[in-house]
Amino acid sequence: MSNAGSGGGAGRMVAVVIVIVLGGGCAGAQAGPGATSTATTSTGATSAERGRARGLFPVLLTARAAWSGEVRAAKLRVWADEGYRAKNPRWQEELDDDVAYANRVLIPMVGVGLAAEYRAWEHRGQAGELAAELVALARTDPGDDAVWVVGVLAGAGESTNAEQLGAAELGHVVVRGSAPGEQREALERAFPDASPEERSDALSARRRHQLTVVLLHQLAHSLGAQHEGDADAIMSDHWSPAVTAAISEDNRRRMLREVDERLATGRQVREAERLLARGDAAGALVALAPVLRLYPARVKPRVLRCRAELAQGHPQDAATVAACDAAAATGIDAALAVATARRGAGDLTGAMPPDPLPRSAKAPLTAPRVGKRSASRTSSRSWSVSGRSALRVPSGRR
Ligand SMILES: [Zn+2]
Repeated sequence: MSNAGSGGGAGRMVAVVIVIVLGGGCAGAQAGPGATSTATTSTGATSAERGRARGLFPVLLTARAAWSGEVRAAKLRVWADEGYRAKNPRWQEELDDDVAYANRVLIPMVGVGLAAEYRAWEHRGQAGELAAELVALARTDPGDDAVWVVGVLAGAGESTNAEQLGAAELGHVVVRGSAPGEQREALERAFPDASPEERSDALSARRRHQLTVVLLHQLAHSLGAQHEGDADAIMSDHWSPAVTAAISEDNRRRMLREVDERLATGRQVREAERLLARGDAAGALVALAPVLRLYPARVKPRVLRCRAELAQGHPQDAATVAACDAAAATGIDAALAVATARRGAGDLTGAMPPDPLPRSAKAPLTAPRVGKRSASRTSSRSWSVSGRSALRVPSGRR
């Protein structure tokens, strides 16, 4: 309604959209094969071609401009597993293209633009249950400094069920890419008259549409959105090439509320650090509570909670012991910080490494040097990475 009178605002938003899309890299490709064939081909394309393309090519994802405020950036860390990278040699470029496409929906929908970085995930996802993949992803990346951590796995079969194609839990999301072999055969059966070139273009447009829709669907779930009955809505429980960027106003409002809380967590962690440094442990615990609710796997807030509990002067209290054990179980860096904090609080037995650490990882921990971590960030970091890979032992911490 108010959009009609906000021409200047809309123009400014388009500029921001372009900046964010460019920031995601690969701007030239963001329109993609599906988009160009339906939206920007010259008048040379015949209406018959377009009509046929309508079924062959997926719908262009274009969201209604419901957000008129400032666009906020949300950091996204994307991990592509071994299977996905093997099937998609240009994985980083293609995923960047998908994220840029998702931004064309998220920005007008809820005013959030994803700023993504990409990592090779030394992990091979299995067919079937995605819950285990979410646990593996959280172990690899607890999500410190990111609003979302996304794991991308190779496609499995012809399933179009949204929950077989992806899953979400708080700040962690996994999605499966499409299975190109199965889809190629399905297209040949459904569109026998299409030329091989058309089918090839359609296949890549569908790959992009599916991954983007599943990513949006699961990000929306992670922000509290629920399924909708409309089969063409982004929150439909099944993907199809006809899915549009439509979302109910109820779901959009849920997402807006939740995204505001998520974007506040970075500030809340800094606030907790500041309060703790001033000796206000109780205030630090209050500041940390929403962060730990939304991001229970994050290492930094867990360690801060342990330090704040210890600062209250009862290192043997059950709550303090539990908070510090939970923090120490996240990795060697955290275990060192916890041991140091416990010793500082006069808890010498508690300063020993906790049980969930494997014995091989315990050895270097028995003699931590307090000054070492601040003396050399880089060396401490690389050490923690090699240590963390040794920690991929089920610890039952989630
Ligand atoms: Zn769903």
